[in-house]
Order: sequence, then C-alpha cells, then structure tokens
Amino acid sequence: MKCAIGHDSHAYYQHLGKPLILGGVKIPGGQPLKSNSDGDVVFHALTNAISGLTGVNILGKIADEMCIKHRITDSSEYVNEALKYMGKNKIVHVSFSIECLTPKLENYIHDIRLSIAELLALDISCVGFTATTGEELTMFGRGKGILCTCIITSN
Ligand SMILES: [Zn+2]
Repeated sequence: MKCAIGHDSHAYYQHLGKPLILGGVKIPGGQPLKSNSDGDVVFHALTNAISGLTGVNILGKIADEMCIKHRITDSSEYVNEALKYMGKNKIVHVSFSIECLTPKLENYIHDIRLSIAELLALDISCVGFTATTGEELTMFGRGKGILCTCIITSN
C-alpha cells in the first residue's frame, strides 16, 4: 500500500469568458484562476499526488509542453498523463481539501466528486472532498485564490 500527497494553488484574476473549473466541473459565476491551462487546481493537486505515487512529475515541464506546444489546456489530460506511469499500482481512495473564501462549494461538491470518480474509474464513495475558508487566516481564506491538497491511497 502507498500514500501520496499533492498540492496546488492559483490566484484569481480578471478574465472575461474564462470559467472557473474545479475537478472538471464549471462553477457558474466563479472567478477564473490564473494559469496557462484551464487552471483546474483540483486536477493539478490530483496530478501531483499521482506523481507522488509514481515518481514521475507531470506538472512543470511535461504539462507545460502539453499546454504551450500542443494547446492541451484541459487539466484532466494532465491527470491521464500522470496515470500512465501507475504500473501495477491501483488507486483505491482519494481525498481532497480546498481552502478558499469564494465561491461557496457546498452545492457543487457532489458533482465534483462524481467527476473525479469518473476520471479515476472509482466509486464516488472512494472520493472525499471538503472545503473550508480557514477562518480567513490565509490569502486563500481572504479571497485571493484557491488552495487544494489531495491525498491518494493506492495498493
Ligand atoms: Zn496548477
């Protein structure tokens, strides 16, 4: 059995027409995150956690090349790229924790869990997802962006 952690954060910025996407789900009215890609901080944290299992880092050189050279901005593709190196390891559970002031994610958590479960071919019961404002003690909790941490268990 293995455990791995992944982490990512992005700042909000003004960009008309770019949606806020979290875990592959468009959040209506959400402010977009600054990134060359779709800025999906949840999938980026997941990609990093998978890299923590495989030892093959995707975010950085490989994802930058996918994004800039091949115009692949859908972050689920970075997750899929990371999954290529899983070998015989199989993900059995993932858990996410998000810190942000806005948007309120309560109404979207089910859809986000479902989207992550589909991408990883897991049952939704194997995808945990929580969100907190952290009592506004950090820049994320004060509305400057979103922080996401992901922990994966594999066998
Ligand atoms: Zn990122």
